[in-house]
Amino acid sequence: MRKKIVLLLFFISFCSVKDQRLKILIHDSDLAGYIEIENEVIQIYANPKKKSKPEFRIKKEEIPLFEKMFSVLSPREIFQNYSHGELSKFPDDVLNKIKTESEKNLTTSKSPDKPLEGIKIAIDPGHFSMDSEGAKIDERYMSVELDGEKINFFEADLSLATAKYLKSFLEKYGSEVFITRQERGKSSYGMFYEDWLKDLEKIKNCLEERFFYHEEFKNHSFENFYATNCDIRNRAKMINAFHPDLTIIIHFNVDDFRNGLPSDKNYSLIFVPGSFLADELRNKMDRIQFLRLFLTSHLQDSILLSEKIEKQFNEYLKVPPLPQKLETEIIPTYTKHCVFVQDGIWARNLSLTRLVHSPLAYTEVLYQNNREELKNLSNLTEEIDGMKTSKRIKGAATAHFYGIVEYLHAKGNIDDVSKERLLKDKF
Ligand SMILES: [Zn+2]
Repeated sequence: MRKKIVLLLFFISFCSVKDQRLKILIHDSDLAGYIEIENEVIQIYANPKKKSKPEFRIKKEEIPLFEKMFSVLSPREIFQNYSHGELSKFPDDVLNKIKTESEKNLTTSKSPDKPLEGIKIAIDPGHFSMDSEGAKIDERYMSVELDGEKINFFEADLSLATAKYLKSFLEKYGSEVFITRQERGKSSYGMFYEDWLKDLEKIKNCLEERFFYHEEFKNHSFENFYATNCDIRNRAKMINAFHPDLTIIIHFNVDDFRNGLPSDKNYSLIFVPGSFLADELRNKMDRIQFLRLFLTSHLQDSILLSEKIEKQFNEYLKVPPLPQKLETEIIPTYTKHCVFVQDGIWARNLSLTRLVHSPLAYTEVLYQNNREELKNLSNLTEEIDGMKTSKRIKGAATAHFYGIVEYLHAKGNIDDVSKERLLKDKF
């Protein structure tokens, strides 16, 4: 009897977690037909209307193995094996490969001065352009007149300098860090756009991958295709090959209603995975990612990580979280694409939130065209790795670092003493 009650309670909690996840994952209710949960079996269909045979089915007890698959197999191997329809139908050698991958134990054998030892963190500094030619592709160029003075900078430089500081803070305490791009103006391919265009092998690879992801050109110009598809997908591919414990994607926002003009507003926000729109489960690769986010802890952990970082944006940087209801004009921009999770945290189905196989926070630290931030960000008194930058950027990196420390502590990866010590470091 007692065992039955325990099992029943376990099943109820399993269901409510799944319900919460579905609310965040699905923006358009039409998508609900793709998935079916019955008697502890989850089934996903290629077409929500033709329910003769599920494309993939998984039993509750197989979920840990399914989760492990994403840290063992490459996206291509996952894509190919998913076609078997069930984990138990995977070839023996593939199943053994997943099963025998040793469990990571993050809490053992750390030296006291390196409490982040064994923790792998990927950082993706958003965009890449640093000249007007690149900015045409990237479209992330800030040029605003403030008190009679012209202020110009690139979001790509802000994100890169933040990433470089964050990397150095994390490495100081023993973390292993991977960064998707290293040099100003160069994309994740480690080259300028003009050089990439001459590299036929790289172009061919990107176009071939397009068929694997079943993407269409849609209305993209080729330049736009490079930035949004080739470069972004390459970032996800490199991050997944690194198998990080968490991923930070760094961006800086603008007040769109004051585009090209200074703004009095300033908000921070963080995107987590989810919010699949009406036509966003048509492709198999997208359904695989949807199933991953539904079955694994990646979504919950992304929200926890984002909560901790958002708290630091608010308290340390003094940039408040973007609330759900601010004023009528802001809401449609987000409600069209996003599911609101909590103040400052929104689910959005961006290429990177969908394709990266780890807990993640896609941060939009502040409004670049806010009056104070324009002054802060153009006051280049600091230098990191040969790049001139501002105290504000160093502060942005510190806020990310403190947030990561609080998340790792909440997950039990670092102890109380280490947490207190790391949160005291002023860098
Ligand atoms: Zn951006």
